[in-house]
Amino acid sequence: MSQLTLSIIKPDAVQRGLIGDILKMISDAGLKIKAMKMIQLTKEQAEGFYAVHKERPFFNDLVAYMISGPVVVSVLEAEGAIEKYRKLMGATNPEQAEEGTIRKRFALNIEANSVHGSDAPETAAVETSYFFNQLEQVG
Ligand code: ATP
Ligand code: MG
Repeated sequence: MSQLTLSIIKPDAVQRGLIGDILKMISDAGLKIKAMKMIQLTKEQAEGFYAVHKERPFFNDLVAYMISGPVVVSVLEAEGAIEKYRKLMGATNPEQAEEGTIRKRFALNIEANSVHGSDAPETAAVETSYFFNQLEQVG
């Protein structure tokens, strides 16, 4: 069954001009773009998005990084989109990411790791509606 997932091209990748390269990898992997926009997150929006990590030691740094420049958020659709996109992204730490993944190619380090993808159906539902209403999911 077709599934939706939320992608974020993070500030490190937008800043280095990698939007096109990453979207090409997404498209080549068979993930269809349903909705997309470039935004600058506020501190409150970044804190809300990563609220599950608020007790982690890296939380404040993570929020500061996520608001350091614009991001590109999109809703992706495919059969098994969540797992498909997590595979394409590669491991959180780019040193552990497999060849051919977005993070292996582009990530700078465990924090500035170029992309986000939802990790389960429940989080995908919360995250897509965090950024897009029903009418914006046009594709
Ligand atoms: P994301 O949720 O962004 O798709 P992920 O699911 O692979 O990434 P999480 O464990 O959810 O990884 O961590 C969220 C984000 O927090 C990471 O993508 C990374 O930017 C940052 N992060 C995770 N672990 C660390 C760490 N040990 N030090 C610094 N930043 C970290
Ligand atoms: Mg995560």
